[in-house]
This record gives sequence, structure tokens and C-alpha cells, in this order.
Amino acid sequence: MDSPAPVPASAPAASSAARKIIPIVPVESDSVGLYEATKKIYPRTVRGMFARWRWAMVFLTQLVFYGLPWAEWGERQLVLFDLAARRFYIFGLVLYPQDLIYLSGLLVVSALALFLFTAVAGRLWCGFACPQTVYTEIFMWVEHKIEGNRTARMRLDAEPMSLEKLVKKWFKHLVWIGIALWTGFTFVGYFTPIRDLGLAFLQTRMGSWEVFWVFFYGFATYGNAGFMREQVCKYMCPYARFQSAMFDRDTLIVTYDPKRGEPRAPRRKGLDPRSMALGDCIDCGLCVQVCPTGIDIREGLQYECIGCGLCVDACDTVMQKMAYAPRLIRYDTQNGMEAGWTRRQLLHRVLRPRVLVYTAILALLVAGLLASLVARTPLKVDVVRDRASLARIVEGGRLENVYRLQIMNATEEARHYRIAAHGIEGLSVSPDERVTIDAAQSRWVAVRLQVPYGVVPSGSHTVHFDIRDEEGGVQVSEKAVFLVPR
Ligand code: SF4
Ligand code: SF4
Repeated sequence: MDSPAPVPASAPAASSAARKIIPIVPVESDSVGLYEATKKIYPRTVRGMFARWRWAMVFLTQLVFYGLPWAEWGERQLVLFDLAARRFYIFGLVLYPQDLIYLSGLLVVSALALFLFTAVAGRLWCGFACPQTVYTEIFMWVEHKIEGNRTARMRLDAEPMSLEKLVKKWFKHLVWIGIALWTGFTFVGYFTPIRDLGLAFLQTRMGSWEVFWVFFYGFATYGNAGFMREQVCKYMCPYARFQSAMFDRDTLIVTYDPKRGEPRAPRRKGLDPRSMALGDCIDCGLCVQVCPTGIDIREGLQYECIGCGLCVDACDTVMQKMAYAPRLIRYDTQNGMEAGWTRRQLLHRVLRPRVLVYTAILALLVAGLLASLVARTPLKVDVVRDRASLARIVEGGRLENVYRLQIMNATEEARHYRIAAHGIEGLSVSPDERVTIDAAQSRWVAVRLQVPYGVVPSGSHTVHFDIRDEEGGVQVSEKAVFLVPR
């Protein structure tokens, strides 16, 4: 029996004659549903190359996420975004709020890299590295281990409540909550030293915001990976909506080959499909059963497809059993599929102008970011006038302005800094300041500038503070205003 032909991804546009305005007619019905009812998806487990890659990415991403906050760099955490101290530690870098430009640069580079990978290979991020995908995979693995395979899970959900069902469900949720809370704890460990956090947890003296974020992040993980799953990708993630703007006909996507697969129909193994005027698809539905978003890839490119490749693995298993050639569903481009390109021709098209432009911009940005990081001054200074005393006459008949300097040592060693000033004749710093600041610390210092009274005309005068790192030889100059009253 023939199934309906699949809708091609690039169906020809309707002719202009057929393009007319269709009036909206009220539906004659007792009720109109505003939302589609959600059907629970029970993805089937599948083995294959893409399934192995997905698990490799789960291990890799989680090793980095759970492991990184425990790694140390000298006396401190390797990666720590210490919001309370307004200081970020990333490997050997100590960044202050004034260095936010580097984090912004990193975000721009990440966004461009995402554009580039999407233009080349579609939704690689979604299918293999997105936290939603990764945690859903982990939660589904737990579900599979406790409740059984797809059929067992469907049966369990359909049957009335029993002691066995209750125990299995409770146990599953307990494990899910454990993973979710550990994830929340790790997340907070990027913002507060994780060892102190662990100790505070054991001694039940965790701060209220830390408790809030552990539970909030944990709850989001539990809800998104345990319950929402594909709904997040389908309805909540904006990337799914705008990624089509980055696709073109040479972007690698997971596609079904309708020329080879149709007409689809079940048949016995060993029969020649061509003699029966059939395509290679045996309409087993396995590609739909393994799909984590529950779609049928045979209906063409759909925005719900996260490009995980599990349907490729499933179909290859079927093709192998039927002794047909593999890759009825495969990673291919729309142009490649239509023209029957070889792998070599496909790879050749990867280097198209759009990809080259993205790559060039990305390379320039990365080079610029690295160069500015290398050339970055490991000393930051902020100058604030002391509002309490604008200008005053002090002992010795000198006119004085008071300032507060925040000196930030962005190196990993204690440093001595010498403060000097220039800009007005006879300007002196009192006392002759030499400041010591510990590694990766900052300090507020009160500094007084003096000039002989009556020498400088009244008004505001521009002066410069010169702060010199005695060991590193680096010097930073900051502008300020010296006030002389009438
Ligand atoms: S259609 Fe295939 S590649 Fe797309 S989400 Fe489903 S299983 Fe993954
Ligand atoms: S797994 Fe392959 S053979 Fe089975 S329905 Fe899907 S495309 Fe057809």
C-alpha cells in the first residue's frame, strides 16, 4: 500500500493564477481549541555513529561543566566570576568590570562561530551540544534505566497506579532531582568559590541568594529536561526560529532522499523493490520513533528538526537488515540531494563566499581579541573626587583638593605602585604615595593634591594622575579636575 508522497522541502511556489486571497471563514464548531494538545513523546533508543557522537558530547560538555569549578590556578579557582568582589578569574586572567569589553568580544565571537557552523552544517549545536539536548539525553537515560525501553514506558504510563509504578516514578524523580540540584550547585560554583560553597552547604550556612540560585537553576533543569524537553526547542528557543536565515541550499541538513525512498511500502526482506515499483523506504516508522522531537523527516525540512542524526542511525540499521545501501536518510545539502553530488563535491561547496566571509570576520575578531588581551595593561585605576571637601587651605598656605583612587592589581603577584600627578605648576602629591596591593586585589586610596595658594588662577584645571607599577614598569594616567575657588 502506498503512503502519501512526502512534501518536498522546496515545493514550487503556487502559480500567480492560483495566488488569490482566501477569505477567512469562521469554523463551524462547538469549540475552537487555541492550543494544540501536546502528545508525550517516547523516543526509542538507537545505536549508531550519531548516537555515539551525541554521548561523546554529553561526556565532554559535562566533564567541562561539572569539573571546571573544582580546578585550581595557584591559590584560587581556575574559573570564577566573583560578582561580589566584581572580579572575574579565567585561567591566568584577572578581569575587572572595566574589562567587560573582553567578555562582550567573547560573546560576539561565540555568536559568529554559531552563525558559521550553522551556515556549514545546520543545527550542529542544537543536536549535539546545547544544554537542553544534553540534559534531556541524561534524563532520558535515567528514565530508560528505571522504567525500561520505549514500549515498557508507554505501557507503564497507560496502566493504572500500582505500587510498582509508584516506586519506579518516585525513584526516577528522585534521581532527576539529585542531578538537577547538583547542576544548580555547580552553576552557582562559577560565581562563588565552590569549595567554600560546599562547606557552607555541609554546615547549613549557605547564603540566601546562593540557595535561591541553586534551587532556581536546579528547578529549570528538572523542568526543562524532565518535562518540557522538545517543547523548549519547538516553542521557546528563538534560535530555532531565526536559524533558517543562516541556511542556504548548500547547508548540510538531515534529509530523507525521496527519489530513492519513494514510493514507500512495507515488504519482505529479499524482494527486489524495483521489480515491485517501490522505493527503498519500507515505511517501518523507526526514524519517527527515535526522533526526540517526534517529527517525520520524510516530510521534508522542518524547523523542529534539531539535526541530531538519530533518524540516520535508525534508518541505516533498517537498510542494513534489508541489505540495501545505507544513507536513505543522511546529512546532505538541498543542492547536493537534487544533483546527486558526491561527498567530494559537497565538501567543495563548503568553501562558498558566505562561509569564507563568516570565517574571515571570525578570524579577524579572534585575532583582535587575542592581541588586545596580550597587550592589556594589568593595572586599572579609577579616580573619584572627594565630594566632602572640594578645596581647602591647609598648613603651609597651600591649596588642597582630595581624591579617592581605586587601584586594581590585575596580576597574580603583590605589586607596589607609585602615585604622581602633573598638569599645574607646583602641583604635589601629599603624602608622597607608595601603595602596596596584593595579587588580584584592589584598594581605595585617599590622595591629596596641593598647589601654593594664590599661584594658580581660580577655576577648574585639568590634572593627571600617573600610577606606576614599580615591578612591572607599567604606567596608567587618569584625568581629574583640580578646583581653585575665587
Ligand atoms: S528528524 Fe532526525 S535529525 Fe531531526 S530531530 Fe528528528 S531524529 Fe533528529
Ligand atoms: S527508518 Fe528508513 S525505512 Fe524506516 S520509515 Fe524511516 S526512512 Fe523509511
